[in-house]
Amino acid sequence: MKGSRRLGLGAVAAAVILAPGMAPTPSDAPAAPVTQTATRAVLRPPIQQRLIPFGATRRRQMAHYSQLHYGTASWRLHPRGIVEHYTATRSLRSVFATFRSNAPDPELGQLPGVCAHFVVDRDGTIYQVVPLWVRCRHTVGLNHRTIGIEHVGLSDEDVMGNRRQRVASIRLSAWLADRFDIASGDVIGHHESLHSRFRHELYAPWRCQTHGDFRRVTMDRYRALLNAQLAGTDADTGPPDWRPSSC
Ligand SMILES: [Zn+2]
Repeated sequence: MKGSRRLGLGAVAAAVILAPGMAPTPSDAPAAPVTQTATRAVLRPPIQQRLIPFGATRRRQMAHYSQLHYGTASWRLHPRGIVEHYTATRSLRSVFATFRSNAPDPELGQLPGVCAHFVVDRDGTIYQVVPLWVRCRHTVGLNHRTIGIEHVGLSDEDVMGNRRQRVASIRLSAWLADRFDIASGDVIGHHESLHSRFRHELYAPWRCQTHGDFRRVTMDRYRALLNAQLAGTDADTGPPDWRPSSC
């Protein structure tokens, strides 16, 4: 969180620009020189809360999963990155049902069930599904460090070609990046996961596991839009710090 590095309300009020020809009166003049560089904060987009049950059993399962795959038995998340996904279905209802069910995932057969922190619907509505301090299973090798954002859609182009969904997604990622001090280069697509600097997977058969959603070409465009949204903030908008993958 970076709120402490920004100007307080008093300093903002003191920085009001006077019209040409208006001399500052003693009451207009700042009490002290402003020495900090003002940075803009990204506004929180509208978010609908649709939290799924994530009680003691599921948290215990997440801690056990973390022990097996990351080496620490914790379900708590301290976000360092964001992973973008699409659902491969147009049904928002089926996405919620899958996340709620806490069933072993069909691909790898482990508990807890899969989830993401947010779902962005076709009309641009953002739903929060899991609290940001809880780990969710959305990307092998990165669940211990990243927030997961799902988009209802059938392909990268399906999501990025939908203006309302794209704009909502960029606003959400920008707000999260600003809030958690996440570099825009650490906002990645699922398909880029093997090259993330945070990738860590102890279970050998999954070491090279990834999915095809949100490829590099899509994410280069996404990050350019994200950087435009982060302009004027003190966010790190440099290029991604990719790690070589032997996969
Ligand atoms: Zn994915």
